[in-house]
Amino acid sequence: MDVFDRIGADDYEQVVYCHDRGSGLRAIIAVHSTRLGPALGGTRFYPYATEDEGLEDVLRLARGMTYKAAAAGLDLGGGKAVIFGDPARDKSEAMLRAYARYVDALGGRYLTAEDVGTTQDDMDLVRRETRFVTGFSRELGGSGDPSAATAYGVLWAMKAVAVHLWGHTSLAGRHVAVAGVGKVGRALVGHLVDEGARVSVADVTSAAVEAAVVDAGAEAVAVEKIHALDCDIYAPCALGGALNDVTIPELRCAAVVGSANNQLAHGRASAELLADAGVVYAPDFVANAGGLINIAEELAPGGYHPDQAQAAVRRIFDTVTSVLQAADVGAVTTAEAADRLAEDRIAALSAVHQIRPPT
Ligand code: NAD
Repeated sequence: MDVFDRIGADDYEQVVYCHDRGSGLRAIIAVHSTRLGPALGGTRFYPYATEDEGLEDVLRLARGMTYKAAAAGLDLGGGKAVIFGDPARDKSEAMLRAYARYVDALGGRYLTAEDVGTTQDDMDLVRRETRFVTGFSRELGGSGDPSAATAYGVLWAMKAVAVHLWGHTSLAGRHVAVAGVGKVGRALVGHLVDEGARVSVADVTSAAVEAAVVDAGAEAVAVEKIHALDCDIYAPCALGGALNDVTIPELRCAAVVGSANNQLAHGRASAELLADAGVVYAPDFVANAGGLINIAEELAPGGYHPDQAQAAVRRIFDTVTSVLQAADVGAVTTAEAADRLAEDRIAALSAVHQIRPPT
């Protein structure tokens, strides 16, 4: 891959390769945009088969963070990092601290957080080398695991869709199908049950299904059938690509609102297929921004306050509402409306004059 061509195509600001022989660290940090603020995004620790695969992943994810932060109205840009390796086998304190020094060397242009393969404990270690880290433990003044906030945000995205479809925020009596009951999906099931919704769940891990059935009274459905359930809302909360050429024609829901990243297997083509099928789609990066919004509260002048963070997450309701209205008015898909919302905000704020005092 010609890296300059690749990063030039989507206008990445900076891509940093990190190597530390002693600890075995091999990592890439991608800063897509700092136009709205420091580029925030998690550190993914993953056994990529090739260097190109890791590079492609970090680039795609960093750009996604730019859109997510911009659409959420945050003063943050988009970035992401990947560490090559199997977290269960290769992760060590030395490697994480070596990595943290590279984050520190970027001087705050990139702020890291946990992601697939990294944990809150890892962020606590990273924090010993750099202050440019978020999502560390509450005992240290951080906001902790973002999953609960993500689930709470998805709930409010669903409420916005409920107003659009049924005229009120209540989800009582609605049937919601949750695919993937891990950290986010399980917390979402709890909220839905509290709301009086009927909840069906599916997961490849039987223990996860059992917990949702026994603890929350959800109904279990086979993994390959959950998307095709006759229900009000389908909530993909597992892996990306849940909405594709096979699954979209089989949907029997009124709306799709979930936490999974990159739900549309073929981007705008999948969004159009959904719109043609009459399914209301809450764009993933708008609906699942609760974790990011929560983490951003760590950067607030007074530090992290859970109540303020919850209030900030609830604003996802307004963002989803704006996106649904803009899609109607502009006769575009909701995915396109969400992209425009992010792009317009970046363009508008980038055009504001930089006024600096004389040096
Ligand atoms: P998780 O790993 O805790 O849970 C994912 C669950 O999905 C697991 O229980 C897993 O067994 C299940 N699963 C995997 N493949 C499946 C399949 N084919 N069908 C059904 N279930 C399947 O992850 P999480 O933190 O709950 O995140 C869920 C999704 O939300 C991911 O796509 C993640 O990228 C996205 N997301 C998470 C956050 C967050 O704060 N954790 C924030 C934004 C987006």
